[in-house]
Order: sequence, then structure tokens, then C-alpha cells
Amino acid sequence: MTRTAEYLDEVERCSARNYKPLPIVLERGEAAWVWDVEGKKYLDCLSAYSALNQGHRHPAIVRAAKEQLDRLTLTSRAFHNDRMGPFLHQLCELAGFAKALPMNTGAEAVETAMKAVRKWGYRVKGVPEGKAEIIGCENNFHGRTISIISWSTEPQYRDGFGPLTPGFTLVPYGDAAALERAITPNTVAFIVEPIQGEGGVIVPPAGYLKRAREICTRHGILFVADEIQTGLGRTGKMFACEWEGVRPDAMILGKALSGGLYPVSAFLADEAVMGVFTPGDHGSTFGGNPLGAAIGCAALRVLVEEKLADRALELGGWFLAELRKIGSPHVADVRGLGFLIGVEIRKASGAARPYCEALMERGILAKETHDQVVRFAPPLVIAKADLEWALPRIAEVLAMSFEPAMAAP
Ligand SMILES: *Cc1c(COP(=O)(O)O)cnc(C)c1O
Repeated sequence: MTRTAEYLDEVERCSARNYKPLPIVLERGEAAWVWDVEGKKYLDCLSAYSALNQGHRHPAIVRAAKEQLDRLTLTSRAFHNDRMGPFLHQLCELAGFAKALPMNTGAEAVETAMKAVRKWGYRVKGVPEGKAEIIGCENNFHGRTISIISWSTEPQYRDGFGPLTPGFTLVPYGDAAALERAITPNTVAFIVEPIQGEGGVIVPPAGYLKRAREICTRHGILFVADEIQTGLGRTGKMFACEWEGVRPDAMILGKALSGGLYPVSAFLADEAVMGVFTPGDHGSTFGGNPLGAAIGCAALRVLVEEKLADRALELGGWFLAELRKIGSPHVADVRGLGFLIGVEIRKASGAARPYCEALMERGILAKETHDQVVRFAPPLVIAKADLEWALPRIAEVLAMSFEPAMAAP
């Protein structure tokens, strides 16, 4: 039995089956590359869903983490620590908000946003108690808690997990007129991904975010951007909303906020919204802990100092153009922005999964999202030479034919 087989067997015996990973066991990573337990090397084109924008084990972030491990790791918010303030200060300056509330996972920061906009609705807008409505988009992904899946349109995310949380309205993504029609006197916020990542790398029509922003302003509701996947350089701007010159009323960040070392997330807003929280309203034992804060400071510094958004713009744009040139009969669409790229496989050519498996066999790690789409989202520190190495291999795989598993007779 190989080490890989032994490990897969152990996981099959001991772990819940809530994932279906590719059959590869990784043990080491450096920048854009990872190594499995058999010693084989792979180019990471997933980056843990954009949590590794700075690459695996970025030396400056690892150094900051090690230094902090030798000083103080956790205080809880019952006491202050000397790292949280500087981290939030740096984050607010970068993102252009007055205040930030630190959490750990992305889903927690989304929950924080949902609580903030509801309370803002009651205390500032004057919505009758218990009536607040949040508008979201069909095909969204914002996380996995019960309240978040309550406004998902993916049946599998919801099936078997009810009763669900009320107070959500869904509109088609990319349709600003539908957003405007859905607004009622009790609407408090519109929460949106600037590009739908898990939904299949869906880029909305040009002008959508700008129009949505104007509609929210005109109707007195909050525009909240979930930039957990699109933010922090991924699309070629520090934040994807910048593509349309849009400033949201609040923003949700996670993933690359720690450069992949540790769960660090945040909800950002100005005092008009953040001011609704009073002591005891909300919290987290680990949120704002000094280890996460020290890591977050270093992770943000790397993004800025290494101009990773510019890298995503230039290299990602070039890579997207090269992928478009491949022109396989199995590819329905190649789309994206910066280094958030989706290659959609034609339904008639089967699912994206076998393409990901074939890429893996050739040393490239990518993961399908929503059955038909292969996502390419490498660490932003990736070298052009690595992409040049990958492109002919990707072309070879995209030319391959996989029979649909259940072909109609
Ligand atoms: C990944 C993601 C989340 C959830 O983050 P977790 O850390 O997995 O809880 C929320 N929103 C978007 C847009 C994401 O991509």
C-alpha cells in the first residue's frame, strides 16, 4: 500500500464525508508549489480558494507568526492585546473604512455583517422589530452556517438542514433592475460578491456594481461587498469593487487576510454602521487574537510591498488570454478577471471533475466548481515560467474527451 492509499483509507474511516477531495495527500508547500507524500511536485492553481494569494509559507508571514508564537497567542477579548489595534488600523487604512471587527472564518464575518445590517435597520433606519430583510443574489456563496445557507439557491447546501432563517430575498445576479424591484421599506441591505467565485467564476455585466451601488444609495439601504474571495489582490485590484469605482458601505474579508497561515476574517464599515454594536452584542473567543493579528499585519504588508494586485492584473490577464487561445471543442467559455479564472466545460463533454483529475496527473492542481467549471486561481506570487510550464499541459488536458458518466441511451 502506498502512503497515499494508507492515508486515504484512514480518512475514509475516521472523517465525515462532507468533502470529495482529489486523491492526493500534500505534505509541504512553498510559494506556488506543493509536494505530496510520494515526493511528487504540483503547481497549486487553487490557492485554497484564494486564501493563499501570498503563496504557501511566505517567509515574511511565517517569520511574523514565529515571533508572535514566542510572545503571546491568545488573550480573548476580555483583555486588550498589543497586536489587534495595529492590525485593524493597517486594515482600515488599506480598505478605506473607519472600523473593523475581527473574526476568524469567512462565514463568521458574513454572520457579523448580517447582524450589523439588521441592527442598523432597526436602530438607524427604523425598520419595525423582526421585519428586516436582506437582499442577496441567486447562485451566491457566502459560507455554510444555517443562516447563510438560508439564502443559498444551491439545493444541496440547504437540503436536510431546516428550519432555515427567514428574512432574505433573492434576485438574479447581474440584474440591477431586479434588485431595485425587490427593495421594500423593510429592506436593510444588499449583500453581493463582486464576482461569484464558488458559483462558477461569474463576472457580472459591466456597470452592474455601480448601478447596484446607486440603487442602494437612492433607497437608503446598505451595499455590502463580500470580498472574501475577490479581495486582497485576486482580481488585479486590491478590492474587486474598485473595478467600477464603487465604495461599499461595508465589506467582508477573510481567506488571504492571513496569507493562508491561520483563520483571520473581518467585517469593515464606518461608524454609522459599526456603531450599532455595543458591549456584549457580538464576539468570538479567538477573533482579534494576537497571533492572528500579527499574521494579518504581515499578510497585508506582503500584498502591498510585493504589489500582488498588479501582478494579478498583468500575469493573470496574460494567462487568461493564453487560456482563451487554447480553443478546445470541449470548452464553452473562458472567463475571469486577474487571477480568478474559470474554464467552463461543455455539458456535452461531461463534467469538469475528470479534467481536474487529468490535470493532477500532469502536476497541476485545480478544482471543479459547480460541476462544469475548472477554476484557475494560483497564488499571486506565481512565476510566469511556472504558467508557461503549465499551459501546454492544460491544453493537452482540455483537448481530451471524457464520456459523460450517464450518457442518455
Ligand atoms: C470562502 C467564502 C466564504 C466563506 O469563508 P469560510 O472561511 O469558508 O467560512 C464566504 N464568502 C465567499 C465569497 C467565499 O469565497
